[in-house]
Amino acid sequence: MKPELSVLIRLQGIDLEIRKLKAEKEKLPERFDALNETIQQKNQEIEELKDKLADLRTRKTEVEDELELELERLKKSQQKLTAVKTNREFQALSKEIEEIKRANKAREDEILQLEEQIEELKEEVAKRKKEIQGFEKEAAAEKKHIEAKEKEYDAKIQTLTKERDEVEKDVKPDLLSRYRFLADKRAGVVVAAVDQGVCSACNMNIPPQMFNELLREERILFCPSCQRIIYALKTEI
Ligand SMILES: [Zn+2]
Repeated sequence: MKPELSVLIRLQGIDLEIRKLKAEKEKLPERFDALNETIQQKNQEIEELKDKLADLRTRKTEVEDELELELERLKKSQQKLTAVKTNREFQALSKEIEEIKRANKAREDEILQLEEQIEELKEEVAKRKKEIQGFEKEAAAEKKHIEAKEKEYDAKIQTLTKERDEVEKDVKPDLLSRYRFLADKRAGVVVAAVDQGVCSACNMNIPPQMFNELLREERILFCPSCQRIIYALKTEI
């Protein structure tokens, strides 16, 4: 193999490793992001529960005020009852009193029901808050873990980048720029072996004449299909 090709293959190996590490590093916050999303969602749920709670409390105050007024009315009607003169008046007033009592009973029931619902909602809010605390704790731990991992990745990437810069010095500038151009387009795989006349990267046939030239190793050749830098894979005897 031409020495400049072995250098390129080495360069490619380092670049692919750097690529892999960078991709892994980018994925590190995935769990942290998911946790934060959950926290946000739970907070949203709490806000909705608090709105419901406020509605229930408003309703409860309304009914309590009504009840207070109606109890007052009841008192007055009962006082009037002692002063009625006719049987008809007595009956009408008695009927009215019964109606007020019945309506007030319904109000009292509603107040009790509302109180129950309010208590349930308060418990629900407290439960969600506790859940959020758990998630927040988890997220904080995850963040620490990510930061440590990121440092590890950065150190590895830095070492490899230095190594790459050294290796690059051994590649001719025009070949290097071609390599870089292709690396961007071909996800880092630029140098491909040709095995029995077939490019191992794109699986297309290399024309026989070109393949013969490739075997002579006189100059750098490129796959006519994928434009990668190619070399002939030779079986060692
Ligand atoms: Zn190819």
